[in-house]
Order: sequence, then C-alpha cells, then structure tokens
Amino acid sequence: MPDCTLTIDDKSYTASDSMTVLEVCRRNGIWIPTLCHDERLEPFGGCRMCLVEVEGAPDLLISCVTRVRDKMVVRTNTDRVHQTRRGVLEMILSDHPNDCMTCEKDGDCDLQDLAFRFDIKGDRFGTQPKPRAPLPDPNPMFERENSKCILCGRCVRICDEVEQAHALAFVERGMETFITTPFGRSHLENPCTLCGQCLSTCPTAALVDKHGKGIRARELRKVRTTCAYCGVGCQLTLNVKDNHVIRVTSEVGTVPNNGNLCVKGRFGHEFIHHPDRLKTPLINRDSKFVEATWDEALDLIARRFGKIKAQHGPDSLASISSCRCTNEENYLLQKFTRSVLGTNSIDQCART
Ligand code: SF4
Ligand code: SF4
Ligand code: SF4
Repeated sequence: MPDCTLTIDDKSYTASDSMTVLEVCRRNGIWIPTLCHDERLEPFGGCRMCLVEVEGAPDLLISCVTRVRDKMVVRTNTDRVHQTRRGVLEMILSDHPNDCMTCEKDGDCDLQDLAFRFDIKGDRFGTQPKPRAPLPDPNPMFERENSKCILCGRCVRICDEVEQAHALAFVERGMETFITTPFGRSHLENPCTLCGQCLSTCPTAALVDKHGKGIRARELRKVRTTCAYCGVGCQLTLNVKDNHVIRVTSEVGTVPNNGNLCVKGRFGHEFIHHPDRLKTPLINRDSKFVEATWDEALDLIARRFGKIKAQHGPDSLASISSCRCTNEENYLLQKFTRSVLGTNSIDQCART
C-alpha cells in the first residue's frame, strides 16, 4: 500500500515510505545515473552520482540512501544536479587510465557509458592516474586490475552480502585505498568460492574474466539459455563470438538467480567446444562403438522399444528424467512415456 505521495520533476507519484528516491525514480522510468548501486545489494551511497535536489534540503541528497516521505518534492534534472554529477564523474575519471580503445570492457562499461552521456572528453584536472599494477592471481577464472578500479565497493559488498564468503576488503586509506583479498592471499587460498559474483557486479574492467582474454565486450553476441548443471535452472547469457561461447554472464532481474551464478554455471563452459565432446550418436556394433547418424540411432531405439513392448507389454518399459533438463524437456519425456511407450512408469531424479 502506498504510504506517501511525492512530486518528482513536477509530476506526482505514490510510493511506500520504505522505498528510496532512487527506487521510486527507477520504477517510474526516471533516469538517475549510478556507479556503486546494484539492486542485489544494500544501498551504499559511495559514488555520489545519484545526487538529486530535495526541496528544503540545503545540499543535494544521495538518492540511493534517501527514503521518500509524504509531500517530498524532488528534482532530478536541474542544472545544479547535472553539473554536480558531471564534476563527480570528472573526478572519478581523473584517476582512471581511460584507455577504452584497448579495454576488454569496451561496449559493456558503466563508466564509459556515463562519460559518453555526460560528454566528458579528456581530464580537466590534468592529473596522472596512479599506476597500479595488475594483481597476479593463479586462479584460472578472473583477474583484478586495480588501475581500472573506481572503489565503488560492489565486489566487496556482493562477496559479503550475497555470497557471504568475505573474501575481499578495502585496504589502506584515502588516495592509497585499494581492494584486495585478506592478507593479499590468492583466491585459491582464501574463503573465495570462485562464484564470480564480484566479476558480475564490477562496473569497469577492474575485474575481468580470464576466458576469452583480448576480446572486447562489444564483439560478443548475447544468447539467453538455462544452465544444465543442476535443477535450479539459473538463467545464463552466453557471450558468443564466431559461434564460440567465449564467456558466461547472467542478467540481474532474471528468475530464479537474479544475475548470480555458481562456479560451474559461470565458468564451467569449456566442455562446449572441447575436442573430446561427442558430436554424433554412437551405436554398439560387435562390441565397438561406431559413429551413426541421428536417424540411424533413433530408428534403432524405436525398433528395440517396439520389440520389448510387443513381447512383454508397455509396463516392461520405464523412463527416468533428469533435474538437469528444463521443465519443457521433462514434460516431453513424460508425454513420450505415457503416449508412445504406453506406460505411466516415469520418475525423476529430483523426487528423491
Ligand atoms: S574500464 Fe571502462 S572506462 Fe575504463 S578504460 Fe575500460 S572501457 Fe574505458
Ligand atoms: S568469486 Fe565470489 S567468493 Fe570469490 S571474491 Fe568474488 S564474490 Fe567473493
Ligand atoms: S573492483 Fe570493480 S566492483 Fe570492486 S570496487 Fe573496483 S570498480 Fe568497484
């Protein structure tokens, strides 16, 4: 139930007083830029990009941590708001290498998108970004390059709040601050589960997937599918180039996983193009498996099923489906079992 009525950019809206100004704006299609915000996480108020004017408040307020209240009057697109957000972005970019031309995140980077939208060219402050060497880590999944880090804290917070692994932390203070693992240990030697949630939330190229190194995000075609590793059915986005799956991501807002994946779903995709993978059916002929066409294999199966059914009746056949298949595939198997084989003997591994 709405608890309050407020005005945003001269239009009236109703909302629950548990919502933030940012949530109400996003729900109603009002654009507010953010860098440290991820709807999977508690609001942080760190990047200052979401500043808005609120009538009666002397300073601009951070919309991601400001709760709405009755009769509130908010302005999101005044000159003051725009110039302040632009200044904040210029300061963030003044400590950033800005090498989008050769960056793997090119085409899928929140920082690049905002720089384009605010038409920021060059570095007004004339500062030299602090050189920060990539942190070598033997884990095979992802790597960190702190020169591209904007200290939004999303990786640290998602590791704490969602994965609850507590494998990342801010260290040092002020301009010396950077993100690392506790005691600088490798991700193979700390509580990290290699889930890649930190990778999924990072708005820049500070955290990148080691799969498909050297391929820019803009070169990849996105294909939605369902993970086949277990019965949860997480939604995956295959990032494909030249019909090869280069890496796997997931969109925030999808059900049931809301952009989160486990190590298998996110990184266990190398089998897809592995040379040992079976590409055609094999038929056992004289104790040897020989390659066959799908028609040959299906004809053989149909003949054998038909023979067993004719000799011993339909209840001599049964099928067991897998929780690794989709609902649609499981539906088809039960339909085949009941309608074609003629038996109700069907079970599913997830039932036990
Ligand atoms: S992280 Fe983003 S803004 Fe930074 S260089 Fe790469 S594409 Fe450009
Ligand atoms: S991979 Fe997962 S567990 Fe490891 S640091 Fe990133 S979020 Fe934390
Ligand atoms: S590594 Fe990425 S997510 Fe983590 S603080 Fe830096 S920019 Fe933010």
